[in-house]
Amino acid sequence: MSSTNEILPSQVTKATIITIGDELLIGQVIDTNSAWIAQQLNLIGIQVTKRLAVGDVWEEIWQAIDAEMTVADILILTGGLGPTADDITKPLLCEYFKGKLVRHQPTYEHLQVLFDSVLKRPFTERNQLQALVPDTCDVLLNQVGTAPGMFFKKQQTWLFSLPGVPFEMKWLMQHEVLPMIQREFVGKCIQHKTLLTAGVGESFLADMVSNYEQQLPQQIKMAYLPNFGMVRLRLTCSGTHEQEVNQQITAAFEQLKEIVAPYLVADQDISLQQAVANLLSQQGATLATAESCTGGYIAHLFTAMSGASHYFKGGVVSYSNEIKESLLHVHNQTIEKEGAVSEATVKEMVIGAIEQFGSTYAVAVSGIMGPDGGSENKPVGMAWIAVANQKMIRTKQLFNRFAREKNIQITANHAINMLRMLIVDNR
Ligand code: ATP
Ligand code: MG
Repeated sequence: MSSTNEILPSQVTKATIITIGDELLIGQVIDTNSAWIAQQLNLIGIQVTKRLAVGDVWEEIWQAIDAEMTVADILILTGGLGPTADDITKPLLCEYFKGKLVRHQPTYEHLQVLFDSVLKRPFTERNQLQALVPDTCDVLLNQVGTAPGMFFKKQQTWLFSLPGVPFEMKWLMQHEVLPMIQREFVGKCIQHKTLLTAGVGESFLADMVSNYEQQLPQQIKMAYLPNFGMVRLRLTCSGTHEQEVNQQITAAFEQLKEIVAPYLVADQDISLQQAVANLLSQQGATLATAESCTGGYIAHLFTAMSGASHYFKGGVVSYSNEIKESLLHVHNQTIEKEGAVSEATVKEMVIGAIEQFGSTYAVAVSGIMGPDGGSENKPVGMAWIAVANQKMIRTKQLFNRFAREKNIQITANHAINMLRMLIVDNR
């Protein structure tokens, strides 16, 4: 199996990301900034060769910048730009790039409007400090926040300093930094295409595509991205001519789609539940859930997507036998005789859900997610799933072997994939 991180063997543009803040070092804030920046840079073929996190300490920040200026082509810093005493990135960069602080008039005016009309708070002296920038930088006007971004250049090395607030950082990356980098450094064209498979293990899939993978031209790489019972396959193609790259990757992608056809969920980078949502919407069909061991997780996966109200009717978290009987009309004898975790029970649950919610489709699950509660006949990890419409019921038994949380996620994904296949077969 290969990874796509070596897409540009020659003349790689190297980037270093430095995130600044004591909160990152004590683990109070998780550094999501550098992961996001790395993804964005990777997408345009810039290789991130180092990620550093440093505290709000002058010497630490200085040393990190000084060391990276000589090895990286691009440095991206986040954090420490605010107006409080612990925010020292700006004075430090001012000294490092031998400038003096001057007022940046567009930032000053932007802040004035922001404080007077939007925040309706006094535009204090401390806030006015935000408009001061080193005269040795180009300012990246932060239209969604207060701290401006800065761009410095020393010989061939570029340094961007961005606010720590993720939303502001992303805005400046998308509107200022990435376009600048793309113009200057990316002569190459890189394209990705991703497909989603479900119901097939990574190693089985790897066997299926191994011949294909070996015959791929050198400029096309394939990556496996497994996740809870699903595997994404991503092709990356690089070259100098956009049209050529497009043709090559499209041809390879079509071939790949054919090979994995029995397990193909989507030929784009979407989630399994999004694929099901699309199918339901196309059919004008609706869905209801009856969940025991997944505790509403399946319903959550659907309702977390906007537009769910068009197809998602509702669900029952029927955790107790009593609720299975009273709300879903599962027969008492069924539970007594077969148990709550049984094919007979999930069948009655799924029928109950369709009847109670009046939906086109329903899904029901009942299982033992662990770590306790297993028995010889019904070990931890066992689950029954049922999916149905008015005409048809399908069931499946699972034996999960992970910790509770992962068992829940895998069971949910299996259930959603069974639902998907039922919908596809009823098209
Ligand atoms: P501000 O002007 O808002 O103070 P700043 O540039 O000074 O911006 P910080 O004070 O360092 O930024 O961080 C602001 C907030 O952004 C922090 O409270 C933290 O929650 C978040 N943040 C900072 N760095 C990161 C990071 N690397 N990843 C994720 N979140 C971060
Ligand atoms: Mg701050």
